[in-house]
Parts: sequence; structure tokens; C-alpha cells
Amino acid sequence: VEQSTVNSVCYFEPYMKIKEADKYFYIHAIKGAIEGEQLRLLYQPKIDLNTNKIVGVEALTRWHHPERGVISPGDFISAAEESGQIVDITKWAINQACSDMAQWRKADIEDISVAINVSLVDFRSGALPQIIFKALNTNQISPHLLELEITESVIFDDADHVQEQIHKMNVKGVSFAIDDFGTGYSNLGYLSKFNVETLKIDQSFLKDIATNFHNQHIVKSIIKMSKSLHIENVAEGVEDEETAKWLRENDCSMAQGYHWAKPMAFNELVKFLEKNNSH
Ligand code: C2E
Ligand code: CA
Ligand code: CA
Ligand code: CA
Repeated sequence: VEQSTVNSVCYFEPYMKIKEADKYFYIHAIKGAIEGEQLRLLYQPKIDLNTNKIVGVEALTRWHHPERGVISPGDFISAAEESGQIVDITKWAINQACSDMAQWRKADIEDISVAINVSLVDFRSGALPQIIFKALNTNQISPHLLELEITESVIFDDADHVQEQIHKMNVKGVSFAIDDFGTGYSNLGYLSKFNVETLKIDQSFLKDIATNFHNQHIVKSIIKMSKSLHIENVAEGVEDEETAKWLRENDCSMAQGYHWAKPMAFNELVKFLEKNNSH
């Protein structure tokens, strides 16, 4: 028994140290990333499964570090949440997205909605509505074109002012999507209490949907439930036609994934939109 404990400690510790060191690195470098314009916003199209048209995009952040190269959000967002710096990243992302939206309006591209990921830390800071209203106003963007993707951790936060902020933005026309749906809470009563427009079905359920009966049941019931509550649904992480076909057959309304497009830079998106929505 003693031997195996020693072994597991040996395997565990170096890994933890690297992670801790990374976190330390990120927290110290993020400030420079924002000020040094190392952050980039990519956009991934969201497809209407009936018409095959792009109905919106999700904004996803990348960090172009001068020495480390491209750092993905999975690596630095949690460190930024822990240090509170996520608030500055979110502010940057909102401003960038709104100024991009103003750009494609100038280019005479059909209005599509943009979804931005926001975290519980953004709500706890209390600054989110102000940041959003200001960015919309400065760029003359309709609040109806902006969607905020939140996880259930936001909905279930017990601080009153979190719910107040959701309400405040909601009445102005900003909409909300529940991200990674199905991975969080089992109490679904909140769906009728909050004005949530969209459920994003977590990509873990879609991976092997054509053959995994367990996941088929889960996804079918999410689709059925969202329809009965008049909530839109989006399947995430769709990588092949087989999955897309299954989703169409089971009345899923929208999807996102490498099957249609990877997240792309603004200039590429403009071309992609012109090509896809022109016929
Ligand atoms: P998410 O919001 O669930 O975003 C979906 C993730 O799946 C993205 O990863 C996207 O690039 C990836 N993805 C899309 N289609 C496919 C597919 O067909 N197959 C596979 N395997 N993956 C696909 P990404 O861009 O690395 O972002 C990871 C997570 O980081 C996001 O998960 C989101 O929670 C967070 N994130 C990204 N940008 C921001 C941001 O600006 N603010 C905050 N708070 N979080 C962000
Ligand atoms: Ca998301
Ligand atoms: Ca997600
Ligand atoms: Ca997520």
C-alpha cells in the first residue's frame, strides 16, 4: 500500500508543478497581452440546419504570445478568472466584437448575431451591463444582435445582483444562451424562470451520436424540452455529415462545428458570409 502511494505521488506532483507554474506565468502575462494587443477574436459560424444559412457567430478569444505562440482560451481563461483579469478580457472582447459588427455593417453584410462568452466573475464584478451598453452605443449596434453565453454557474449564483444584471440586459434586448448545456445541474426549473433564448447542447454528447444510444436519448430529450419551452437549441462541436444528418432528423434547429467552419478571423468571416448567404 505504501509503495503505491509513493508512486502515485511521484506521478502527480510534477504535473501539478507545471500547471501551477503555467498559471503563475499566465496571470503575470495577461496584463501585457491586453495592453500589448496580443489578443485576437475569432468567429465561428452558427448554421440553421433547415436552410443551411449562417444565422450568427460565436466570438472566441486567442492569445498570440510573442514567444509561446498561440495560446488557446482553455489554457488561460481559468487563470484569468481566478485572478479577476477575465473582466478586462471580456471588456476587450465586447469592444472588439462591437467594432467588428460596425465594420461589417459598413461592408453591407446582412446583420447576424454575435455571441460572446462571459463568466460568473464578470457578473460578480458588477460592471458587465455598463460595459455592454457603452460598447453597443458607441458602435451603434442593436442590442438584439448581441447574445451572451453563460454557464449554469451564473444562473445558480445566489448573489441577487447577478440576476439583476441579467434582467437589466434582457429588458434592453440582449439575449442569453446557456452554454455546455447538459453538463451542469439536473434541476431544470430555472429554464422557465429565466428569459433564456438558447440552449447550446454540449459537444461531449455529439461526439459519437450516430452510434451512442445513451447520448441519443439525452440529446433527443434536450431538443424536445427546449421546443416545448420555446427555447432555441444549438448543437456544438459537429464534425461530420453523419452527425449533422442525425440532428436534422431529430429536429435540432441550429449547429456549430468544424463540419461547416472552424473559428476564423474577421476578414475570413466576411468572405465566408458573402459566399454562403448570397444564394
Ligand atoms: P465553448 O464556449 O464551449 O466554445 C466551443 C469550443 O469548441 C471552442 O474552443 C471551439 O473552437 C471548439 N469547437 C468548435 N467546433 C468544434 C468541433 O467541431 N470540434 C471540436 N473538437 N471543437 C470545436 P476554444 O475556442 O478553444 O474555446 C474553449 C473555451 O474557452 C470556450 O468553450 C469558452 O468556454 C472559453 N472561451 C473562449 N473565448 C472566451 C472568451 O472570450 N471569454 C470567456 N470567458 N471564455 C472564453
Ligand atoms: Ca460558448
Ligand atoms: Ca460550449
Ligand atoms: Ca465552455
